[in-house]
Amino acid sequence: MRSTPGARQETLAVHASARQRPDSTPAAIPIYQTSMFRFTDLDVFADAFKRPDGADTYSRLGNPTTRALEDVMAALEGGQAAMATASGMGAISIVLLSLLQTGDHIIAQQDLYGGAMALLRDLAARWGLKVTFVDVDDPAAIAAAMTPTTRMLYLESIANPMGQVCDLPALAGWARQHGLLSVVDNTFATPILCQPLQHGVDVVLHSTTKYINGHSDVVGGIIVVSDPKLYRTIWERGTEIGASADPFAAWLTLRGLATLPLRMERHCSNAGILARRLAAHTQVTAVHWPGLASHPSHARAAAQLAGFGGVFSFDLAGGAEAVRSFTKRIELVALAPSLGGLTTTVITPRSSSHSRLTAEELAAAGLGDGTIRVAVGLEDPEDLWADFAQALGGSA
Ligand SMILES: *Cc1c(COP(=O)(O)O)cnc(C)c1O
Repeated sequence: MRSTPGARQETLAVHASARQRPDSTPAAIPIYQTSMFRFTDLDVFADAFKRPDGADTYSRLGNPTTRALEDVMAALEGGQAAMATASGMGAISIVLLSLLQTGDHIIAQQDLYGGAMALLRDLAARWGLKVTFVDVDDPAAIAAAMTPTTRMLYLESIANPMGQVCDLPALAGWARQHGLLSVVDNTFATPILCQPLQHGVDVVLHSTTKYINGHSDVVGGIIVVSDPKLYRTIWERGTEIGASADPFAAWLTLRGLATLPLRMERHCSNAGILARRLAAHTQVTAVHWPGLASHPSHARAAAQLAGFGGVFSFDLAGGAEAVRSFTKRIELVALAPSLGGLTTTVITPRSSSHSRLTAEELAAAGLGDGTIRVAVGLEDPEDLWADFAQALGGSA
């Protein structure tokens, strides 16, 4: 407690604070559950507000627990600095709103996460941005989309739900050559499988809700960059927008992040076992996982990623009826949105993540009425397969 001789109870009640113990420090990062920080020097106080790397002042601008998460993610991505955000959509909003202005044009991958696609369309309609969605495996289509006002190329390192893996070094190089910022949503790959900054990308972002936290108990996001000037712009405008991470969410995320390399190994190997067995099943017409030789992105994924990821989709021969009966019969596997957690989940993209797509867009994305997306968890693969096999019915 600070020395407050003669203070009355009302004063003592709000001024009690933890003792400092200089001889030892906590081995785990504490949760700095505080909105503000006290200063002893006015100059240090004034300086701290001007810089992202100054002393902590106010937790929307920075907090030691949140900074610890930012430091670990910057290190894992091979970047210089990171900004943790309240959600993955918060990270995407900050990137778009901080780096673009009315009249700017974006070239975006056509199979983006549904929320990103909806946001881009909404910003385009309400804020005068222009967006062209292209097949990023078609260089002619990308070149044709380029206009004098194009400012950004927006990609995903493994796209949802078909697992398209784009040529990151080529696309990042092309963007740089044309003076565009390249942005990659690395949520599905994580820095364990792919480090886009190392391929020349300018901005990496994540929904940390997924693999980074990995325990389905936090919503969060993060932005990582290499260039200090770019970081400063993102930090200044991002803290104005206000989608900053909460210290408790950052703490839980840090705790999950410590086991990310181990978890990714298991997610990928479990996905491989299930994808191969499903591909051989009589009720299944196709399996879309970049680890299978039949997948259009297989060769590129093998060269560019350190693993093929824990998410895949498969198509049931029986269409919508077969999907309905499969989702009724699963027991261990959960019908639930999201991915990257401990437990295996399935969704039907047409009725969830991709429900806003038109019939034409669904067809272009290869999403039939028999398509199921699987986000493989950390369970024993034989137990998972037993559940899939019984839910599919018929002969395996
Ligand atoms: C979930 C997700 C998001 C959005 O993140 P939230 O944390 O839900 O806001 C963005 N991109 C991808 C690829 C995602 O899977």
